[in-house]
Amino acid sequence: MLDGTTAEVANRSALRINPAKTCQPIGAMYASLGIQGCMPHSHGSQGCCAYHRSHLTRHFKEPVMATTSSFTEGASVFGGMANLNQALKNIFTIYNPDIVAVHTTCLSEVIGDDIPSIVAKARESGAVPEGKIVIHANTPSFVGSHVTGFANMVSAMVNYLSESTGETKNQINVLPGYVEPADMRELKRLAAAVGVDIVMFPDTSGVLDGPLTGEYELFPRGGATVEQIKSSGDNIATLGLGHFASHIAAATLESKCNVPAAFLELPIGVTATDRFVDALRSYADVEVPEAVENERGRLVDLMSDLHQYFHGKRVAVSGDPDHVIALTQLLLELEMKPVYAITGSTGNQFEKRMHELLDGPVPEAKIKQNADLFELHQWMKNEPVDLLITNTYGKHIARTEDVPFVRFGFPILDRAAHRYYPTLGYAGAINLINQILNVILDRKDRDCPEAWYELVQ
Ligand code: SF4
Repeated sequence: MLDGTTAEVANRSALRINPAKTCQPIGAMYASLGIQGCMPHSHGSQGCCAYHRSHLTRHFKEPVMATTSSFTEGASVFGGMANLNQALKNIFTIYNPDIVAVHTTCLSEVIGDDIPSIVAKARESGAVPEGKIVIHANTPSFVGSHVTGFANMVSAMVNYLSESTGETKNQINVLPGYVEPADMRELKRLAAAVGVDIVMFPDTSGVLDGPLTGEYELFPRGGATVEQIKSSGDNIATLGLGHFASHIAAATLESKCNVPAAFLELPIGVTATDRFVDALRSYADVEVPEAVENERGRLVDLMSDLHQYFHGKRVAVSGDPDHVIALTQLLLELEMKPVYAITGSTGNQFEKRMHELLDGPVPEAKIKQNADLFELHQWMKNEPVDLLITNTYGKHIARTEDVPFVRFGFPILDRAAHRYYPTLGYAGAINLINQILNVILDRKDRDCPEAWYELVQ
């Protein structure tokens, strides 16, 4: 099918072919899994929930639990109140979670179900036992993307749970953005190495990358506890990583509990990680220890040793807006040329920031929000690139155009170990650079004449 992609680009305003995003509830479900003892609940029909669970399971290679209001024709006509009430009763009776995080779907949004009222009635009727918590986020999939759904659920955590007791705690909130469990683990490790206590939510490390113990746990021991999220209102500052995934929650925490917010990009590469470390250092009033400086030094050494392999290489990038913005900075640090950069998500902030980054060093770069992979493929047909970086949905394009390919972002459905390898922080950048270098050198080995097939590169 992709062999039939035409090089001629036509203006399309309504049609998306090979979308570069997925739907809001997937992000909300993923965020909910980052609360300890939480059952994500999909208020809609079973098909939505099954798709969202299977998509996350295929990416993380772990069973993803979630419940559903199981809408049928009746709920579509009369609303989903009875379904949600019954669902909450069943969930607390059968699975006994500490907290249920409800997200909506297209159908319940079109019906207009008022989730807070339904939950209040369920509490009155005894369907929600004393001491148990229910939070909710509206996640209509006809707007936004999985990143919007993630952002809305993190914001719901703040709205429902964060409290200010008036007693300041010497901790910093970190909202990690839509990243892998390994990235969340890496952020915690880096903060500890700098000597700063953080509260991170959501936190899917230990949930979707937990150890094999021989016993299945419905609620793994990882994740941010409700108490930790409550305490976020007393902390000295919030670092919201990624404009699209974390801005709303960090801003909400600032206005609700008066916790100052700093808005940073995902710490991918040297400069962005420096900003993260510097923010931790300055808010906590500590010195950056030598061990962290050495970590940074190893990354810089690697980049300077290898830059001849990267210099001037034309790269096409697609993915979540926060990922593409941060990754582009790493590519520029490697002296590569990100000539195409798209996201399927909407938001003018993406194009604005990307132009700031690329207009100087890569003036020919094409940048587009609300774009699709079909158009990116057409651009590549017209002016080829040396490397494609995106999620698994790029593999057909890479094969058709015979371009080296690095899988990055969400979802990665055809590889297995990505959830264990961070791409954030200094150590994460080394992982990512290693992946990029390997595909470039593999291609060089494959294509070079016999006489140039070198043992040492
Ligand atoms: S787009 Fe809407 S209907 Fe389709 S799976 Fe997502 S929430 Fe369900």
